[in-house]
Amino acid sequence: MTTSPAPTAPGSPSTGRPRVVIVGSGFGGLFAAKALRNADVDVTVIGKTSHHLFQPLLYQVATGILSEGEIAPATREVLRHQKNARVVLGEVVDIDVDARTVTSTILGRTTVHPYDELVVAAGAGQSYFGNDRFAEFAPGMKSVDDALELRGRIFGAFELAELATDPAEVDRLMTFVVVGAGPTGVEMAGQIAELAHRTLRRDFRNIDPQRARIILLDGAPQVLPPFGPKLGEKARRHLNEIGVEVQLGALVTDLDADGLTVKDSDGQLRRISAATKVWAAGVQASPLGRLLGDATGAEVDRAGRISVQPDLTLPGHPEIHVVGDMANHPDKLPGVAQVAIQGGRYAADAIKRRVTGRGPKPPFKYHDKGNMATISRFSAVADIKNMKFEGFIAWVIWLVVHLFYIIGFKSRVTTVLHWMVSFLGRGRSQRVATQQQVYGRLALEKLGEGFATSKTGGPKDHPQTPDDVNPEQQHDLVGRRTA
Ligand SMILES: Cc1cc2nc3c(=O)[nH]c(=O)nc-3n(C[C@H](O)[C@H](O)[C@H](O)COP(=O)(O)OP(=O)(O)OC[C@H]3O[C@@H](n4cnc5c(N)ncnc54)[C@H](O)[C@@H]3O)c2cc1C
Repeated sequence: MTTSPAPTAPGSPSTGRPRVVIVGSGFGGLFAAKALRNADVDVTVIGKTSHHLFQPLLYQVATGILSEGEIAPATREVLRHQKNARVVLGEVVDIDVDARTVTSTILGRTTVHPYDELVVAAGAGQSYFGNDRFAEFAPGMKSVDDALELRGRIFGAFELAELATDPAEVDRLMTFVVVGAGPTGVEMAGQIAELAHRTLRRDFRNIDPQRARIILLDGAPQVLPPFGPKLGEKARRHLNEIGVEVQLGALVTDLDADGLTVKDSDGQLRRISAATKVWAAGVQASPLGRLLGDATGAEVDRAGRISVQPDLTLPGHPEIHVVGDMANHPDKLPGVAQVAIQGGRYAADAIKRRVTGRGPKPPFKYHDKGNMATISRFSAVADIKNMKFEGFIAWVIWLVVHLFYIIGFKSRVTTVLHWMVSFLGRGRSQRVATQQQVYGRLALEKLGEGFATSKTGGPKDHPQTPDDVNPEQQHDLVGRRTA
């Protein structure tokens, strides 16, 4: 293992400028870095992937609409014109709050980055509520790897069904279960239904993909709880119309390669035979939350989120800012992109004020721009400033908002083209699924514990079990979607 200080550490005695280290290149980290572009500081963005990921469209990568490149531009490319920013690939494994250093590692090379100001925006991973063994059979939806693996599993299930001769096996292969009826689950189930019923319907000879069974299940009594009962009910009805079976009040108690066991609200257990399972049911904040909690005394909740002060810093550490999905703000903010974006910008502004000797900012105030989720092509639900939209108009709003936030002109153009292929036509431009995508994770997990835990949000001091979780929470804890 090689250990070296960050080469020509920004803010080092050579430049004299304050060193801002940002952990994470997601919404919080990237928007903080961009907001510092004109500041007299040296910025280092450390990310464990080399890309910025637009998570809200992961389900479109999983179902063959978009390519991974369209939603995951290289962070280095996004920041290439920002002269005061440097991008470093590596997983942050330690933060020494006394020495003010961050340690990152990649392939045995460890680098120590000194900081004057630190922004931690490491987000959240999937939570299986203490049942991490489910991860092998039901990938979550948190990374490009997850989406590509799911793409391989979904398209692969149809391929295997075409070859199967036993009717029970055909049924198992053509049953798709999405666990969690929050926005991610609804979008995923809707797209699998469109794939089966529109895109693939003429592609096979032995099977009829239109007979595929798509089940969306959740422990809560309604679909899309954060949208309220009215929009939730509309979404449920529309899902039924496009061929998704919605099963509510249903808790998953076991899950394996062949299917899953579900406990209904009347206490009855039943078995669903299904080859493809998707987990869209919970999140666990980055283990860096716990690490910082131990180091600073800040409280860490069961989902691993660290309590921040109203100005997003940690108690006794005005130089440490925690933003996005990892932070538990006194206003109990949802885990959505806008909270991370606004938090990242706020932290950047606080840093700028400090380095220019201006007084502190007033507490962080989140501006809720609304929630939205698509159900199928031409149909969505949106709740914007207490105005409820549904159907085509909500879908157009969704389309415009998502296009606006996709990074880079090139990606916007190709995304529009791919949407035309899929939404106006029946096609899917990205149907490639390689064996590596389907089996790669299992191979990587053999490399050791480290990989397995990072897939499920890292080690948990307080593992959540289904019993710990209010049944109503067995939906996408990511919560609401923000316009
Ligand atoms: C499938 C899905 C769909 C979603 N849809 C919507 C939506 O429609 N609307 C909406 O508003 N929100 C949506 N969300 C939620 C939204 O994406 C998150 O709230 C947002 O990404 C949080 O931003 P963040 O910066 O906190 O974390 P992230 O965007 O997750 O970024 C975390 C970053 O930290 C990096 N990282 C993690 N650990 C380390 C480490 N140890 N060292 C270095 N780097 C590290 C990661 O690689 C990543 O770059 C969705 C989430 C998912 C998973």
